[in-house]
Amino acid sequence: MNVHDSEWLANSLELNGLTPAPIDSSQVVLINTCSVREKPEKKVQSAISRVRQVSRANPEVLVGVLGCVAQQLGSSLFDVSSQVRLVAGPDAITQVPDAIKNLLANNTKTLELCAFNSSYEERKLSQAHLSGPKAYVSIMQGCDNFCSYCIVPFTRGRQKSRKSAAILDEAANRVRTGAKELTLLGQNVNAYGCDKYADGCSFADLLSALSKIPGLLRLRYVTAHPKDMRDADITAFATIKTLCPMLHLPLQSGSDRILEKMRRRYTRSEYLKLLKKLRKARPELCFSTDLIVGFPGETEADFQDTLGMVEECGFISSYSFCYSDRPGTRASLFPDKITHEIKLERLQKLQALQEKQSFAWLKSRVGQNTEILLEKPSLRSEQNMQLWEGRDPFGITVHVDLTDKLTDQKMKLADISGTLLPVEIKEARKHCLVATVAE
Ligand code: SAH
Ligand code: SF4
Repeated sequence: MNVHDSEWLANSLELNGLTPAPIDSSQVVLINTCSVREKPEKKVQSAISRVRQVSRANPEVLVGVLGCVAQQLGSSLFDVSSQVRLVAGPDAITQVPDAIKNLLANNTKTLELCAFNSSYEERKLSQAHLSGPKAYVSIMQGCDNFCSYCIVPFTRGRQKSRKSAAILDEAANRVRTGAKELTLLGQNVNAYGCDKYADGCSFADLLSALSKIPGLLRLRYVTAHPKDMRDADITAFATIKTLCPMLHLPLQSGSDRILEKMRRRYTRSEYLKLLKKLRKARPELCFSTDLIVGFPGETEADFQDTLGMVEECGFISSYSFCYSDRPGTRASLFPDKITHEIKLERLQKLQALQEKQSFAWLKSRVGQNTEILLEKPSLRSEQNMQLWEGRDPFGITVHVDLTDKLTDQKMKLADISGTLLPVEIKEARKHCLVATVAE
């Protein structure tokens, strides 16, 4: 979501006449931030110091802090460095281009833009932004869930569904200008249409409408919440062929006791039942997840329950994090905090198990045929070799040697990006696959 926001902003600034420049010669430096854990929040301070250092504290340099840390810390960021003159939360991103113009015209002024919008604010896109085989389309802002550990509802605000007509319009535009794969973005995408900004279109209706866009080859979404997975969303995996067979479904913990304290509103057995239903709808469906270790009060037995679920669910990958206290959240007030050492030890055990499981799954795919959406030349390319990379339907990076194809002139270089290519998997590496073009 942050990458998507930053790309949009970079594009709008270019439309406003600014050009990208190295940090040591920039007149404007914008730092887009995340505050979901404490570590990224700390990085903001060091980024501000770095700008100060490379610009030799030049007072003409304008620094803007954007995103969730800006929302959380507000005007106190002006005290960190006199170069910081813009503080804008995630909901104010559309106002940033005008704010910069304004601040450049008056170099003593500061602007704090941290009010939440009263509806989903549409953003203009330039044609230049509409290119490439993969595109992200935002379908909502904010989140209403208030999981006890999470700062998102405080920094990104309450859930606001975007109007379905605007989503369909942007999606069709992206496909018309070259996108073959769309990823729908939101903090809780399958609760789309369940807030006061809804226009009567449910998440399943939206998927169905999007799947009818001519030329769209792949559809994905992130992130879905297990409690909001309705029967119609499950059936979509059976009926919509372009919906990729890979679902990111955050579990967070395998212990019912901890899930309840997290306010996730499902149990491990409900989660397992859900996976079963989803696999019934689409047998090849694979799952990835998010996990937190060391939530306040997490015992060794709770942690073992998480390890057990990782195996039982057969996640092909996971993002795992040490619990981090976030200001204003309920969990930050919970007793029985887990020590840093125990959190790290659990995280390492969990990640070792996941690595083993992920690699075993990649190895099990050697010899199979699949289709990859070609993206770009691979960085691994050696001399006289045309190694390209693309993604398979599960989102795994696959490297394929196209030297023969290109020499035969069967494929022209410019046509390659965005092509769906049938390949045979030859080798599994730690986090990717190597394949040859299928005969
Ligand atoms: N809306 C998504 C993602 C939210 S943030 C969802 O509900 O899944 C991404 C991930 O960061 C979360 O899934 C969670 O695993 C992690 N996270 C959020 N708050 C955290 C905290 N206080 N400490 C550690 N990890 C956290
Ligand atoms: Fe945070 Fe929970 Fe909302 Fe995800 S669903 S953003 S974890 S409050």
